[in-house]
Amino acid sequence: MAVPKRRTSKKVTNQRRTHKKLHVPGLIECSNCGELTKPHYVCKACGHYDGKEVAES
Ligand SMILES: [Zn+2]
Repeated sequence: MAVPKRRTSKKVTNQRRTHKKLHVPGLIECSNCGELTKPHYVCKACGHYDGKEVAES
């Protein structure tokens, strides 16, 4: 069975999988009031979603 000739250096270990992470911001600005809200959620500050008011304040 094949055996590694050299121990993997700390640098190479730490460099592994640094380029695969997806960027998930988690917050967007409300298109109506500019408040930070979760994407695909109704804005908590003004109750707007997709340019329309959907929730009673
Ligand atoms: Zn809003």
